[in-house]
Amino acid sequence: MVAELISVGTELLLGNIVNTNAQFLAEQCALLGLSAYNQCVVGDNRERLAEAFRTALKRSDIVILTGGLGPTEDDLTKEVCAEVLGIPLVEDAHTRERLEAYFADSVYKEIPDNNWKQAEVPAGAKILDNANGTAPGLILEKFGKSVILLPGPPDELVPLFRDQVTPYLRALQPEYIFSRMVKICGIGESAVEEKLIDLIDGQTNPTVATYAKIGEVHVRVTARAAGEEEAKKLIKPVVKEIRSRLGDSVYSIREEETLEMAVVGLLKKYGLTVTTAESCTGGLLAGRLVNVPGASEVFREGVITYSNKAKKKMLDVSKSTLKKYGAVSEQTAREMAVGGVFATDADACVAVTGIAGPDADGDKPVGLVYIACYMNDKVRVEKFLFKGNRSKIREQSVVKALDLLRRSILDNYRK
Ligand code: ATP
Repeated sequence: MVAELISVGTELLLGNIVNTNAQFLAEQCALLGLSAYNQCVVGDNRERLAEAFRTALKRSDIVILTGGLGPTEDDLTKEVCAEVLGIPLVEDAHTRERLEAYFADSVYKEIPDNNWKQAEVPAGAKILDNANGTAPGLILEKFGKSVILLPGPPDELVPLFRDQVTPYLRALQPEYIFSRMVKICGIGESAVEEKLIDLIDGQTNPTVATYAKIGEVHVRVTARAAGEEEAKKLIKPVVKEIRSRLGDSVYSIREEETLEMAVVGLLKKYGLTVTTAESCTGGLLAGRLVNVPGASEVFREGVITYSNKAKKKMLDVSKSTLKKYGAVSEQTAREMAVGGVFATDADACVAVTGIAGPDADGDKPVGLVYIACYMNDKVRVEKFLFKGNRSKIREQSVVKALDLLRRSILDNYRK
């Protein structure tokens, strides 16, 4: 089945906002096994939206439109789609009640007049209740086509799609598509490909595909079958084989699990606490750990020691080390990690020191980063030479720091 996406909004056309909905929906459609050949962005303009919609209807089985479902004058998506399909708008009592309940719960005492427009739906539409906003999602079926209208704000669109549109689209498909993401860190995309090349080239069901991310590689294994169990059965041995070839480089096989979640999970599992000591990453590493709900169990404090003075004062890095080897050196990274543990009484400390650029530091190049992890009276230090701009170097440093911590836990504590 062919799906097509129309993103509606002048803000998108002008580049004021990034079209993250398109990225999310395109990925989800691929996961559901839908073919996607076209997508477009249209401003809040009646004629151009109608023209884009008519074109999409001609060539696709499923048309998904996002945005323009709000209460204001320039929100036209529902009206235009209903008009093109020749379906009248009627008030929906259920949506009206939800609107009343939404406003009763909010700071607004009265419902603004133009909000009632959101209770009108094309006759016969399936209504997707929106728990996070006022505009419901809508599914219209006509001429053998499915038209899906979703509100623009991503925090409304994503749960609506996951909870209500995905089951609808699955039911339209004769085959069940299931996939698993194998998440890998500490080995580059070409090395991963080399180890898996026979699986990538030789498999048709399931298929195996690699995706490069900053500091990580993800491998998606996708199977098609008549039902869920059968699809899962096809995937299982392939995922097992990938894990056995890549060993500890695989940190997760769960779609929603990030590297920091995996690290926090391991720290919890072994009852460990960690401190971060950061120079060039300036708190990014601590931020990633704190992203994980429940991180307070394992992460109590972190320090940002950007200057030499701070490294001496807070982490007890010796003056002579800084003078002899410099702030960006294996020796300084080592002392930062040791100092972090002693200063905070944690079980481990990960330290990062490097040159994020754009200027080099004497003979030390931009991208030179040392990462150290102190755990169980041992320090492990790794040297990297990252490519890219300042933000990319800092992001890569954080990923490698999380990975060094992860591998140190496995080496020290796994039975
Ligand atoms: P609302 O009921 O909030 O008015 P809507 O369906 O009318 O929702 P829009 O008015 O088009 O949606 O967009 C509302 C906001 O949603 C935008 O300001 C933007 O922040 C976000 N948004 C809209 N479309 C996208 C998109 N394609 N990708 C990411 N964010 C988007």
